[in-house]
Amino acid sequence: LPYHAAAERYDSMKFRKCGNSGLKLPEISLGLWHNFGHNADFTLGRKILRRAFDLGITHFDLANNYGPPYGSAEENFGRIFEKDFKSYRDELLISSKAGWDMWPGPYGNFGSKKYLIASLDQSLKRMGLEYVDIFYHHRPDPETPLEETMGALDQIVRQGKALYVGISQYSAEDTVKAYDILKSMGTPLLIHQPRYSMLDRWVENGLLDAIGEKGVGSIAFSPLEQGMLTDKYLKGIPEDSRAAKDGRYLKAEQISEDKIEMIRKLNDIAKTRDQSLAQMAIAWLLKDPRITSVLVGVSKPEQLDDNVAAIKNTEFGPAEITQIKSIIGA
Ligand code: NDP
Repeated sequence: LPYHAAAERYDSMKFRKCGNSGLKLPEISLGLWHNFGHNADFTLGRKILRRAFDLGITHFDLANNYGPPYGSAEENFGRIFEKDFKSYRDELLISSKAGWDMWPGPYGNFGSKKYLIASLDQSLKRMGLEYVDIFYHHRPDPETPLEETMGALDQIVRQGKALYVGISQYSAEDTVKAYDILKSMGTPLLIHQPRYSMLDRWVENGLLDAIGEKGVGSIAFSPLEQGMLTDKYLKGIPEDSRAAKDGRYLKAEQISEDKIEMIRKLNDIAKTRDQSLAQMAIAWLLKDPRITSVLVGVSKPEQLDDNVAAIKNTEFGPAEITQIKSIIGA
């Protein structure tokens, strides 16, 4: 059946300005790292994307090597975009990235201009797009001068292949350098995409201060620790979970007794807030105004309903903050 987006799609989603830019991001964005490759169920992926947009999630995050195999998430996204979303292009923010291994040889990895320019051209072809809204350098490259990598991002914007650019996993120090270089070229650094969750708080050690000062936005990836910050692992490892099915990035042995104990305590607090643990974990990040959006993944449309409802309550009282910090060791 043809897709008609829900008329009420903007009724409950909240949007935040991305740093000092004029661009607004939904408080919840959807990433296609898992569940969209050629190994996944295409129809289910299509349902997830439709559900997302119906909920007001206007931002879909991709990268060149999402799959598996590499490139296949962009390919499948392109097929779904063509069928369902083409007429909504101007309501959507689509991002891609390059920086991790993508193709063999020295030009398919890290941060050279050679790699970034070629990779984005490939991504655009796979997705059937003329431009992406945001293009990221996916990780810092210790061997390529930052001027070269930022020069590639600047060129990409000037060519009209991306409207905005961002960086991912850069340290606070390198973020400020990247910001300054881009600024000198006349291209603003729109956004930083760091890993950030209740269980991985490295950004609190300087990065959030740096982006706050510079007026750069941010989008937090793996906010649920790949599913650990939900109630799903409290009674063992369900067969349809990432830890059981995939094992590339979330391994069953990472879900230790200590972690489960901590998650159980957090789950009890979430209940007192009338939230699911997933909702509380998302709200915990959104309580900081320097976080523009929280970037979740989902394996089922229902998980999106759960996660999006987090935006109803992102306030924490002082007693809750103290209690949660003592549990997570913050
Ligand atoms: P999450 O921490 O949100 O984990 C997502 C997984 O958690 C889902 O696939 C699902 O797994 C489970 N889950 C989600 N919601 C619920 C819920 N309500 N109840 C129960 N289980 C739930 O994020 P990801 O690790 O998937 O990362 C999100 C996005 O961030 C990626 O798609 C990508 O766009 C981006 N990213 C960026 C990186 C970078 O280097 N810049 C690196 C990694 C990710 P299950 O299969 O168990 O149901």
